[in-house]
Amino acid sequence: MATLHYPYARHPEPGSTLEIAPGVRWITMPMGGSLNHINLYLLEDTHGWWVVDTGLALPEIRELWHRVFDSALGGKPVVGVICTHMHPDHVGQSKMITDHFQCPLYMTRAEYYQARAFSGGGSPHSSWASREFYLRAGMPGEYLDELRRQWEQRSSDGMSMPEMPGGYRRLQHGDILHIGGREWQVVIGSGHSPEHACLYSASLKVFLSGDQILPVITSNVSVHPTEPEANPLKDWMQSLDELLALPSDLLVLPAHNLPFTGVRERLRSLLSHHEDRMLAIEEHCTKPALARDLLPVLFTRRLDPRQMMMALGEAIAHLHLLMHRNRIERTLHEDGHYRFRSIDPDLARRAHPGDHEAPSESPVLV
Ligand SMILES: [Zn+2]
Repeated sequence: MATLHYPYARHPEPGSTLEIAPGVRWITMPMGGSLNHINLYLLEDTHGWWVVDTGLALPEIRELWHRVFDSALGGKPVVGVICTHMHPDHVGQSKMITDHFQCPLYMTRAEYYQARAFSGGGSPHSSWASREFYLRAGMPGEYLDELRRQWEQRSSDGMSMPEMPGGYRRLQHGDILHIGGREWQVVIGSGHSPEHACLYSASLKVFLSGDQILPVITSNVSVHPTEPEANPLKDWMQSLDELLALPSDLLVLPAHNLPFTGVRERLRSLLSHHEDRMLAIEEHCTKPALARDLLPVLFTRRLDPRQMMMALGEAIAHLHLLMHRNRIERTLHEDGHYRFRSIDPDLARRAHPGDHEAPSESPVLV
């Protein structure tokens, strides 16, 4: 099997930069948890720099950015900030940087407005709709209380949504940005977030993938109470399929893990990973199952409430795509829980429950 190659053994220290392709600098900013850091990129233009993704909204990240402004930009300003998508590790410092340099923010429309909507504060776990969502998934009422408690604590770890810049410039699929005499094409994916922007330079053979393609971890693809009937895994699989049209010899600059080559190998292994997970879930559903019953099929660890939320969201995403493909059916029972059942009468006979990929330890919180 072809493997991925990592031309850099380690990432630059936070606050320092490394030129990774002509006019492209790599920066990292620290993050808690197993992810350790987020990769951010600087693109050199004639009269300034473009920043791609910005790090969490924490004071220490702001300090590190000021170190970069003072030492790494050669006296030139930042002229534009691009955020690949609306997650807090990507948009956290977008207001600080665009205010500091009075430069525009570039995002897709769905990402910008979703970020604005979620940055309004307030727990997303206090509505009847949220309670119903977790009840349908088979969770006890106390779970939601615990989730709410954790949510209130998390505002101190930078993972809550920051205040966003008051306006933006819209990125759309196929747009070309002219930066430093080069063309960067906007490539949109979906599933991890609604309208995720990647940037592709054919002349440099470089692809800035954000969280749309990561080499080691699999991006979280979840159904959330805000859109309980969503089918994000369908969007995700379709996006990965479309990205298979990229040239095979690109250097991929992801938002987490290390830069790598082998984009098609990675896309194929992500696609087969999700197909395998879906088959494992479908086989489990030869007997009626609750969404929460499927967590051990996907994850081995005992999950804390927040991990449980991501894990349930992922399980439901796989269930929804299986429903869409007409492989399972869902029924609502008197206890308020949905039960999922395979509708293939031969599946029990053909199943190979011992032959699936091992479950992951826990979901990745990106
Ligand atoms: Zn993300």
